[in-house]
Amino acid sequence: MLTSIAGRSVIVTGASKGIGKGIARVFAKAGGKVLVVARDQGAAQKTADEIKAAGGTAAAFSADVRKWEDMERMAAAAERAHGGVDILCANAGIFPAAKLTEMTAEKWDEVLATNLKGTFLAVKACLPGMKKKGKGRIIITSSITGPVTGYPGWTHYGASKAGQLGFLRTACMELAPSNITINAVMPGNIRTEGLEGLGPEYEKKMTDSIPLRRLGTVEDIAYGALYFASDEAAYVTGQTLIIDGGQILPESLAALEEMGN
Ligand code: NAP
Repeated sequence: MLTSIAGRSVIVTGASKGIGKGIARVFAKAGGKVLVVARDQGAAQKTADEIKAAGGTAAAFSADVRKWEDMERMAAAAERAHGGVDILCANAGIFPAAKLTEMTAEKWDEVLATNLKGTFLAVKACLPGMKKKGKGRIIITSSITGPVTGYPGWTHYGASKAGQLGFLRTACMELAPSNITINAVMPGNIRTEGLEGLGPEYEKKMTDSIPLRRLGTVEDIAYGALYFASDEAAYVTGQTLIIDGGQILPESLAALEEMGN
């Protein structure tokens, strides 16, 4: 386990459930002091309590990543609770499906506001604290969907996840002089509350299309994020890490069948 984040102040958005909760747990286990952020205060508190019960350090904070005032209050809360912001995991995201025929401007805006604008606002709010410390680490949760692959119903989602990578490639240059790195994990299909909402049939089809023949765990993603947050990754910025059990590689159904299991 990478332990160089011990004692560091970590903000994880969307940490009450799913991948964010996994990141919060793994970072706390590595010694980080974690601010668990979600809109539902009760759910965020439950995650923070679970981390504390396991011997970690955590506090809960209710905030909506779509709102600038909330993101400013979030950074201030990390300053008060844990003495600043060393690491931001901009993870909060939603993936409601809508094909183009049913897509509305409102549905489009909801996804872009949470996934893309929410990433920008969380990053911007944490910069003053990181600059004060003379260093920082930002890890974005993107996806394979959008940057690499497509899936009917997710034009807005794919655009938001590809947009995060466009954001990161310029942000890495603007932030490098302040000794702040920014990288992204790109999960495949990970077993989370959000994914379970897509139903058992989706899950079965996804499992069949993954060379490692299982959905990912939230820890699979968290360990990738932990690497980017560590001192060992000091020279890595503007990069992405696909964590998908090999899902993007089969060129066809025939390739998967040829694997023979
Ligand atoms: P999830 O289980 O549905 O959890 C989403 C989390 O985000 C919850 O804590 C939720 O809490 C929070 N959230 C949603 N909207 C928010 C907002 N406006 N402000 C603050 N927090 C908000 O989702 P997940 O599957 O773990 O996905 C997490 C991230 O991973 C997303 O960015 C998603 O795109 C990405 N991802 C997931 C998968 C996958 O297979 N699961 C694959 C690729 C990428 P509240 O509702 O209380 O706010």
